[in-house]
Amino acid sequence: MANLQLTDGTPDVASDGVWLACIECGEAFAPFEAIRYTCDDCDGLLEARYADLPTWDDFEGEGVWRYSDALPFEVGVTLPEGHTPLHRVSRIEDEVGVDALRVKHEGMNPTGSFKDRGMTVGVRVAQEVGVDRLACASTGNTSAALAAYGARAGLETLVLLPAGKVAAGKVAQAALHGARILEVDGNFDSCLDIVQDLAHRGEAYLLNSLNPFRLEGQKTIGLEIMEEFRADYGDYPDRIVLPVGNAGNTAALYKCFRELVTAGAIEEGDVPELTGVQAEGSAPMVEAIEEGNDEIRRWPDVETIATAIRIGNPVNAPKALPGIRATGGTAVAVSDEEITDAQRSLAGEGVGVEPASAASIAGLRKLRGRGDVDDDEQVVCLTTGHLLKDPDAAATAGADPEPVPNDTDDVLAHLANR
Ligand SMILES: *Cc1c(COP(=O)(O)O)cnc(C)c1O
Ligand SMILES: [Zn+2]
Repeated sequence: MANLQLTDGTPDVASDGVWLACIECGEAFAPFEAIRYTCDDCDGLLEARYADLPTWDDFEGEGVWRYSDALPFEVGVTLPEGHTPLHRVSRIEDEVGVDALRVKHEGMNPTGSFKDRGMTVGVRVAQEVGVDRLACASTGNTSAALAAYGARAGLETLVLLPAGKVAAGKVAQAALHGARILEVDGNFDSCLDIVQDLAHRGEAYLLNSLNPFRLEGQKTIGLEIMEEFRADYGDYPDRIVLPVGNAGNTAALYKCFRELVTAGAIEEGDVPELTGVQAEGSAPMVEAIEEGNDEIRRWPDVETIATAIRIGNPVNAPKALPGIRATGGTAVAVSDEEITDAQRSLAGEGVGVEPASAASIAGLRKLRGRGDVDDDEQVVCLTTGHLLKDPDAAATAGADPEPVPNDTDDVLAHLANR
């Protein structure tokens, strides 16, 4: 396995032991003095760094801010978020045939997706740098979360959505929380191009996962999984399977594990194998992993029922591809039909998720079927968003209602007839 230690001294630009570092050239920048999303020198992605990394004993409380010692602030703009359930799903566990399977249901966050973990930190940073307009491009959940956290902070919020490609629940959230919604005649990747232009012209503060501080909040998913799994099984999971869109979560989990290793909180051998799942119609990360490429080929046309991962140009690929490789993980593509089957299986155990979330279970099923996952593995699947986010997909996946006459005997006759 690659060396997972983060090792450099504290640069002069650090403020309270926090700075930003370019993942490509290593250049360090002050965290909150000027607004930047990428490296001034080489345009590489940035990540937050800390002079002191915490270990398990340093954490107290619940939710994202339990982990404040691993974050740039003591507390953020909070609703509150995190502390999501790690469900047992024993029927799927038996059917897939692994030693243990748990589902980390991020749909149980305040606005119904893990994006809240990123926004509680990201909107706090927006206050720190002193901006008055927040913006994001979104396949839906980022806009719902930003609208809610922007409203909480009393800041103006702008969201750019691909017209006709966002699930109903998500648009409704963004609208009611008071975001200004711009529907772009293009796909998510076009929306992100435009919002990045707006950010670079100083028109808005960008809160897509290109913003390194959002990923700081999202890395708490990894901290929660590690702590909770260890409490239940006495050890850390062998593998974490997650849906991949812009690959922000993949990058955030990898960073979480490198920080834990560097702090001495876990051994390199404890790091779970990061396993990414994409939809067949939208799988540039899977293509790069399968072909051994260091760079992503942008897919101009993407299509899948899992609209949250309908992304052809994952911006965090330069952080996420090394993460998948260094942890010994893999990536796999699944069909829309396999996604819907997995959504039904989860719902059959009481866990209601949107299609993108079910991709994790569909991917595990496929990898286990191929023998790429062993029967003695302990696995956590991440489900990223709530069932009600996409009521149309849920209605299509579920059984149709049965019309019956307005009479008890007729209702009983109808029930007996099946
Ligand atoms: C944003 C989102 C994803 C994709 O996450 P990335 O970090 O962009 O890879 C997956 N599922 C849901 C429900 C999401 O909202
Ligand atoms: Zn650089």
